[in-house]
Amino acid sequence: MTDQLKKYLFEDHSVRVQTVRLHETWLQAQEHHQYPPAVQKLLGELVAAAALLAANIKFEGSLVLQIQGAGPIALLIVECQSDLSLRATVKIREGHEMPTDGTMQSLLNADDQGRFIVVLDPRRKVPGQQAYQGIVPLEGDTVAEALQHYMKASEQLDTRLWLQADAQHAAGLLIQRLPDHGGSTQGDAASDTMHRAITLADTLKSDELLTTDIDTLIHRLYWEETLIAFEPATVRWYCPCTRERVASMLRSLGEVEINDILAEQGRVQITCDFCGKPYEFDPVDCSGLFAAAKPMPEQDPPTVH
Ligand SMILES: [Zn+2]
Repeated sequence: MTDQLKKYLFEDHSVRVQTVRLHETWLQAQEHHQYPPAVQKLLGELVAAAALLAANIKFEGSLVLQIQGAGPIALLIVECQSDLSLRATVKIREGHEMPTDGTMQSLLNADDQGRFIVVLDPRRKVPGQQAYQGIVPLEGDTVAEALQHYMKASEQLDTRLWLQADAQHAAGLLIQRLPDHGGSTQGDAASDTMHRAITLADTLKSDELLTTDIDTLIHRLYWEETLIAFEPATVRWYCPCTRERVASMLRSLGEVEINDILAEQGRVQITCDFCGKPYEFDPVDCSGLFAAAKPMPEQDPPTVH
């Protein structure tokens, strides 16, 4: 069963509802990492939020959500492409161990230095175009609150989020008021729809998003409403790191540097920054890196005296 994201629209076209419940994707995100529950919760919620927001971007490219601060955790980062492939990781502050417990505020907002950052990066930019970056102070006790604060501060669509994560699942529900133009309902009626959508979502119990499949959840919340359902989209884990990419990075370091590492450590070990996948190159692998780059004998014949 693949991980899916589903979108619905209230009948009057004024409010959008989206749900996501990730299992495989979330397990893969943790494959090479050991996150304690408090960190799992924060990163998993950010992963669910990134999928929900990326599902609405109108360009081909990526959406990045980052929480960075001065606590024991330096950075939580999720990168989600417009095709809903994503990767995510946690960076611990130098000199700190992975914290075993804590809240978003205690782990990331020491000295009020915490920031919530959103980057939208179209793949094909027109000349001079840069990625869009929005930064707000880290406010609230949860990832959902921090993100709602960001949406409000940057004057985006009125958005509410419910996010949950544990070791097995990362799940989220997004409710968003759509602009009046284009919809059949204006003003007060649309506000009523938004209010109803939120009130019903607020009846969710603490672990209901984690334990309930999407269809059951939507039926449970909105069985009295008429929702227009869209084709589900697949969410998947994808980290572009490969042994070949690591090899070309090592090649760019140069033979002298690589030989220094070999002399010191006997082999070269590289861990992907994002997924944590380990790559190891022994002395034979390393000499192979540079053998191919050397000129072929035919191209550089030995001089005969
Ligand atoms: Zn990787």
